[in-house]
Amino acid sequence: MVKVVKFGGSSLASAEQFRKVADIIHSDESRRYVVPSAPGKRFAADTKVTDMLYGCYELAAKGKNFDKEFDAIKERYYSIIGELNIDIDIEKEFDTIKACFIGKAGRDYAASRGEYLNGLVLAAYLGYTFVDPAEMVFFAEDGSFDSDRTFAAVGERLKDIERAVVPGFYGSMPNDTIKTFSRGGSDITGSIVAAGTGADLYENWTDTSGFLVCDPRIVNDPQPIRTITYRELRELSYMGASVFHEDAIFPVRKAGIPINIKNTNKPGDPGTFIVDTTSQKPLYTITGIAGKKGFAVVNIEKDMMNNELGFGRRVLEQFEKNGVSFEHMPSGIDTMSVIVHQSEFAEKEQEILAGLHRNCHPDLIDIETDLALIAVVGRGMKSERGTAGRIFSALAHAHVNVKMIDQGSSELNIIIGVNEKDFEKACNAIYEIFVLQRL
Ligand code: ASP
Repeated sequence: MVKVVKFGGSSLASAEQFRKVADIIHSDESRRYVVPSAPGKRFAADTKVTDMLYGCYELAAKGKNFDKEFDAIKERYYSIIGELNIDIDIEKEFDTIKACFIGKAGRDYAASRGEYLNGLVLAAYLGYTFVDPAEMVFFAEDGSFDSDRTFAAVGERLKDIERAVVPGFYGSMPNDTIKTFSRGGSDITGSIVAAGTGADLYENWTDTSGFLVCDPRIVNDPQPIRTITYRELRELSYMGASVFHEDAIFPVRKAGIPINIKNTNKPGDPGTFIVDTTSQKPLYTITGIAGKKGFAVVNIEKDMMNNELGFGRRVLEQFEKNGVSFEHMPSGIDTMSVIVHQSEFAEKEQEILAGLHRNCHPDLIDIETDLALIAVVGRGMKSERGTAGRIFSALAHAHVNVKMIDQGSSELNIIIGVNEKDFEKACNAIYEIFVLQRL
């Protein structure tokens, strides 16, 4: 059995966290490949090392003095090394990094050093081999991730290494410069190492015990989700639920490797399993609730609209031409509503409206703003009657006016549009009817 274990920034923010991480790794010998993030926040007002590096490099790029900022970064590592008595000398590394900053080696290079250094320190602490992802995580000329080349290189590089630490977040371009993934991208490296080594499980260690049915800032003390499918997760993360980087799904999904989100501070908690398919029924019919504010609806009315061939296409064309993507498009016989991100739409509003008038000749166009969308997601909805009914009666009891409903043919989710001011109330009402009343 081979497990790839990725530890997030908060799991490696201090010496104390390093100790917990080492205990977790040593308690299971199948945890052979370790992917660390850069040290994160030790307390709420703290700064992540990645952000310190970005800040420091910004000064360097402007030719300003960055000694103080650089020393603060050094201090983060030296406090860990000192407290744990790790036998490693990284002063030379800092010299090289500083010289590269002065030589303007690039923002990505700068940010990547957080993971690089943490990888060196962790490898020394664990007694594992350090492997630089620059040697095996590749981007193509256009900056996209080169998956085929990478998976092959990771498999080859790690096949004879029993235990290794591979820093997260970055790889290299064809010209050997360093490139990072987007923020939070160490999750992606973990997934790549799991896929490349053909691991049995990808454990992603963070500071929460997996996903929760709803955002704890909206619902008080929400229940954890034990098992979620990739598709459900995609629906929920699209609607704003975040714990895991979305792009991290693809490599393991392709290789059929399950992911287990675990809590470094509570290693005994089962966490959440993310799987391709499962026979396990979700405990509460629904798997999760997520939502976002900031949408607008453009309502278009035209008599006999449904007889007019190409009407929908012409409507959407006006949005496309202006680079505004639509989220949903519920329609009636003589009406069509296009739901868009309010801020994106506001920039191009008059161009789009003029285009609609000129090309679609509607009887009426009316815009509603400040809409929130809520996704109620669950593989269990398909096999159970009355889910939609329960949602809407819960919302009616909570005096929430539903402005839009959209149920995809997969029956995996129901999207509900409500006024922004009703957003929290609506999420709580749905949570209560499915979860609280089942407890
Ligand atoms: N350290 C990087 C960030 O803060 C990447 C990561 O932690 O996954 O975004």
